[in-house]
Amino acid sequence: QAGVVIVGAGHAGLQAAASLREQQYSGRIVMIDAEPHPPYERPPLSKGYLLGHTPAARLALRPATFYADRNIELLSGRRATAIDRLRREIILDDSSIVTYERLILATGARNRALAIPGIDLDGVYYLRTLADADVLREQLQPGKDAIVIGAGFIGLEFVACATRLGMRVTVLELASRPMARAVSSGISSVCVDEYQKLGVQLRFNTDIAGILGANGRVVGVQTRGGETFAASLVLVGVGVTPNTELAGASGLMVDNGIVVDQHLRTSDPHISAIGDVAAYRSDHANGSLIRLESIQNASDQARCVAADIVGTPQPYRAVPWFWSDQAHLKLQIAGLALATDQRVMRGQPNGATCAVLHLRAGRLACVETINRPALHLLARRLIASKVALTPEQAADESFELKQLLS
Ligand code: FAD
Repeated sequence: QAGVVIVGAGHAGLQAAASLREQQYSGRIVMIDAEPHPPYERPPLSKGYLLGHTPAARLALRPATFYADRNIELLSGRRATAIDRLRREIILDDSSIVTYERLILATGARNRALAIPGIDLDGVYYLRTLADADVLREQLQPGKDAIVIGAGFIGLEFVACATRLGMRVTVLELASRPMARAVSSGISSVCVDEYQKLGVQLRFNTDIAGILGANGRVVGVQTRGGETFAASLVLVGVGVTPNTELAGASGLMVDNGIVVDQHLRTSDPHISAIGDVAAYRSDHANGSLIRLESIQNASDQARCVAADIVGTPQPYRAVPWFWSDQAHLKLQIAGLALATDQRVMRGQPNGATCAVLHLRAGRLACVETINRPALHLLARRLIASKVALTPEQAADESFELKQLLS
């Protein structure tokens, strides 16, 4: 019998299966995932798990009994290699075939590789999967030198863990500041101060010429400016590439992600795409085509696609939100800063806290905060309510934002 087939059992795929059962879907559900483990959480891989604080058993997204209890067939360690859209079939790497009535592509993303000399040396690592984290954990030893290429969220979370474990860390970044694509400059500078206090060496506007090795192992990194930095470990954190190949090869529309409509359906109405792999037009970005890499987006899109499949479709309008642990700083973002026209610092950043509010056409569109969790939670509600706000009100700490909800 053909039911729902989900390719990819990460946060998005797993939540889709769970939500289908919560929403009383009684047909067959098959989940296919290339990883050998049952679905697990990724965020701790660059936080508590790397530090050894979160045990492996706590990474599982659901208890082992969950799948049988809900009659969800989980095929782990199996890769989907093709989609036959005419027959509505998925072909797996062992040539077996699974038939679908509705297909959900939740294939996520993989690390972007750097094409530079030395990238294949021993001691060069990436961080996306549990296997990546396990290998990396072994290498975190006090007194060792590490270099992180790329000052994005995950690279910097790794820096926080490595310094806490007594390593000396240098960060080399092409842009002029950390997390430049995702946060405003005020937030970047609070993070720079934090890492400098921890003794981390941060180099911006720095392009890498290659990774240096001896006897097949990393010994350092050379920049295009001719500088050399010594290290026995290099972590490459230069972003991800969405896993769109399966969709692209079957003729679905792909544009930096599998393109979906407001109900998260692809150009084939029997196929939906969700999570890191899905590109959609967002009201929160003035209608531009975006692809988000966050737990919120994976989970909320999963619920939305389940509702569509059980016959209660709702357009996907959830307010995007995101968090990242940057050493002692809790960085949180509500909404999207894309296509905004005004940006205001609320109060004065004091090194430990900071808030930047973005307005679009006179309405609150995005709030970036550091160590202000209550403001973050309020911001999600304010953005969902599309409240009007002036730049003066946004900047004034004594102006009660909460009153805008009443
Ligand atoms: P994925 O988690 O990538 O899952 C996709 C799955 O599909 C994978 O298991 C893959 O093996 C499988 N797959 C792909 N192709 C095939 C195929 N052909 N056949 C079978 N299986 C296939 N987000 C936050 O909001 N906050 C955080 O603090 C945060 N920290 C993070 C830390 C790390 C180290 C990482 C890696 C990510 C972090 N994220 C964080 C991002 C968040 O984890 C992702 O946005 C989320 O996991 C996306 O879920 P997904 O299901 O769309 O994709």
